[in-house]
Amino acid sequence: IRWTEGRGWHDAQLVPYAPLSIDPANMTLHYAQSIFEGLKAYRQPDGSVATFRPEANAERFQASARRLAMPELPVETFIAACDALVSQDKAWVPSEGEQSLYLRPFMFAAEVGLGVRPANEYLFIVIASPAGAYFPGGVKPVSVWLSEEYVRAAPGGTGAAKCAGNYAASLVAQAQAIEHGCDQVVWLDAIERRWIEEMGGMNLYFVYGDKIVTPELSGSLLPGITRLSLLQIAEDLGYEVAEGRISVDDWKNGNADGSLTEVFACGTAAVITPVGSVKSTRANWTVADGEPGKVTMRLRRALLDIQTGLAPDTHGWMHRLA
Ligand code: PMP
Repeated sequence: IRWTEGRGWHDAQLVPYAPLSIDPANMTLHYAQSIFEGLKAYRQPDGSVATFRPEANAERFQASARRLAMPELPVETFIAACDALVSQDKAWVPSEGEQSLYLRPFMFAAEVGLGVRPANEYLFIVIASPAGAYFPGGVKPVSVWLSEEYVRAAPGGTGAAKCAGNYAASLVAQAQAIEHGCDQVVWLDAIERRWIEEMGGMNLYFVYGDKIVTPELSGSLLPGITRLSLLQIAEDLGYEVAEGRISVDDWKNGNADGSLTEVFACGTAAVITPVGSVKSTRANWTVADGEPGKVTMRLRRALLDIQTGLAPDTHGWMHRLA
């Protein structure tokens, strides 16, 4: 679907996957007006297909567009585009367990020209790819590197938007994490380098027995849809749930005195991943016994059961395709 100044959204098309041709002066290549989303379609027990919370993705996409001075795509258009592609590709929605069809809606400037200003033409596209189980051999805890040198996003920046530039800014820190023998980078706040923000492409949760805490939306972390859903599911399961500020010292001390029992990360791709160990320039520690925790695995099962239709959809999160 194309957006042109003065004309709005027009020319929706469903076409076979193919390369795009890009002008060297395409404004996205120079000024990075580029936003995207990620969501999944799951096969249901009766053979039908449903996407998980597409309205939430559509609304976050609008928020990202506003932050990058791009036009907002109507929620219904976003969902209709995803539905059209999933219907076309229905055969590609896997039918086993945690497998899914991953959808990647995105929008970028389509105007050709040099000069920093919002473009007057944009393209919105959705592509899809089957996604296998994230942990085919069983859920494995990840090791994380606390990034003290680089920050992902600063107050007033684009951290709460799902824009390409945030990911470009994160690559060097992710490479550092790997150099230090860790799987993923964990971001701290930009001002004090003290407060835990999020992990790579996932939000974080800290479990203290029956109490579960996730970093509050500081403005510089991405408001994850899995994070939002787990706030609700954890409450449904009787846990005490809160959004709050968690410092590196809280993490280290909670671990040392045993009050912090589990830490996990959550996002569309892996659903829930336990965090097993932490490294930083100051200290290294293992989270509890380093194994996937009980609460982590219970929440993971509860969310996947809703997504794959094994548990009732009490919150109306599943969007069934006709
Ligand atoms: N943080 C970042 C930086 C991400 O890229 C993602 C993945 N979209 C998340 C958190 C988790 O968000 P969601 O649960 O919506 O996938």
